[in-house]
Amino acid sequence: MNDMAPWQRAASGAGLLGADGSMAATIFAEMSALAARTGAINLGQGFPDEDGPPAVLEAARDAIAEGVNQYPPGRGMPVLREAIAEHQERFYAIRLDPDREVLVTAGATEALAATILALVDAGDEVVTFEPFYDAYGALIALARGIHRTVPLRLPDFQPDLDELRAVVSDRTRVILLNSPHNPTGAVFGVEVLREIVALAERHDAIIVTDEVYEHLLFDGVHTPISTLDGARDRTVTISSGGKTFSTTGWKVGWLTASAPLLEAVLAVKQFLTYVNGAPFQPAIAVGLRLPDSFFADAASALRAKRDLLSSGLTAAGFTVGLPQAGYFVVADAAAAGHPDAARLCRELPSLASVVAVPVTAFVHAEHRDAYRSLVRFAFCKRTEVIEEATRRLAALPSRSTR
Ligand SMILES: *Cc1c(COP(=O)(O)O)cnc(C)c1O
Repeated sequence: MNDMAPWQRAASGAGLLGADGSMAATIFAEMSALAARTGAINLGQGFPDEDGPPAVLEAARDAIAEGVNQYPPGRGMPVLREAIAEHQERFYAIRLDPDREVLVTAGATEALAATILALVDAGDEVVTFEPFYDAYGALIALARGIHRTVPLRLPDFQPDLDELRAVVSDRTRVILLNSPHNPTGAVFGVEVLREIVALAERHDAIIVTDEVYEHLLFDGVHTPISTLDGARDRTVTISSGGKTFSTTGWKVGWLTASAPLLEAVLAVKQFLTYVNGAPFQPAIAVGLRLPDSFFADAASALRAKRDLLSSGLTAAGFTVGLPQAGYFVVADAAAAGHPDAARLCRELPSLASVVAVPVTAFVHAEHRDAYRSLVRFAFCKRTEVIEEATRRLAALPSRSTR
C-alpha cells in the first residue's frame, strides 16, 4: 500500500484497483482487444458498426467548417438545449425550461458522474438494480457511497417489489434505475416505476434515471419515470445521443432536472469536463428534431437484428431472455453445455471466433453465482455480421462433448 503512487492510493481507497494495485481494465476493453487480436466478431462492446443518420453527420461537418470549434457555454449550446426540451415535450409531454432545467454533458457517463458526485455523501446509500452498468459501481465508490442492489432475474428481469422495498430505507440518498436496461433489455413495468416513486417520496430519496435506450423499444413506447405523479421534482433524467444516433464516439449527453437539482449537478460538472463537443452539439440537435419515422425505423431495424441473433442463439442451444429494448440479449449458456460464462467468453474467440461478455461483469463479486452461466451478446451490428456470428455459434461444441 505504501509504495503505491498517490493516484493508486486514491483509486484503491475507492475500490477501483485490483489486489495487486493495477488498474482493473474494464471487461469491455479486454474483450474488444481480444476481438481485435484474434479477428473474432465483436459482439462484446455495444457500439454500432454502421453510421447513423446522414443529416446528423453532415451537420457536424458543417459546424466544423463554419468555425464552431471553441468552448461552448457551460450548460451546453442553446440550440441543443432547446432541441432537448422540444424532444421531451414532443415524445413525453414534459415541459422544460431550456435555460434552467437542461444541462448538456460529455455523454450520459459525465451526467451520471456529476450527479452521483453532487448528490451522494460518504456513507449515503445508493440503490441500483443488478446486473448494473459498470460505471455505476465505480462512481458510487468514488463518491464513497454504499452500493445496495436489487436483483433482476430470468426470464423477464423485472425486479421483485418486496425485494425493492426491503432495500430502500431512510439511508437511501439515490435510487438509480436504467430502463430500458443494459445488459438485460428489460423495460420496467409502470407498477415498478410507481413503486420507485413511492419509495423515493417515503424516504426522501432522489431518483436518477438512465434512459439512453429510450428510443430503442421493440414494442410500445418509453415512459420516463419523471412523468409519474410525485416524481418530477425529485428526478434527474439522463440520456445521450450516442445510442439513438449511432454516434457513441461523440459523447454528447444531457440531463434534465428541476433547477435546484440541476444547479447542484452543474457545480460538479463544470470541474469535470467543463464543456465538450462543440460541433457535435448542433448536430445532435438536428438528430433530436428528425421526423418520427427516423425513430420508428431505427427501433424496427434493431428489432429485426434482435430476432436474428436470438433465434441463432436458441438454435445453438442457449436459453434466451428476449429483450424488449436496447442493444443486447442475455443468453443462458448452461443449456448449451457451458455453465461458466466467464470461461466460455475467454474461450469463445478460439472456439467460434466470436466475442461476448459474461453478465458477471455487471454484478458484485458476492452475487456472481446467480449469474454464472449468463452471457451478453450485442446485436447493434450489420445484419450480415450477425448472420455470420450465428453460423459460427451454431458450430460451437458444448463442454460436455469435448
Ligand atoms: C452506453 C451507456 C451509457 C453511456 O453513454 P455515453 O453517452 O456514451 O456516455 C450509460 N448508460 C448505459 C446504460 C449505457 O448503455
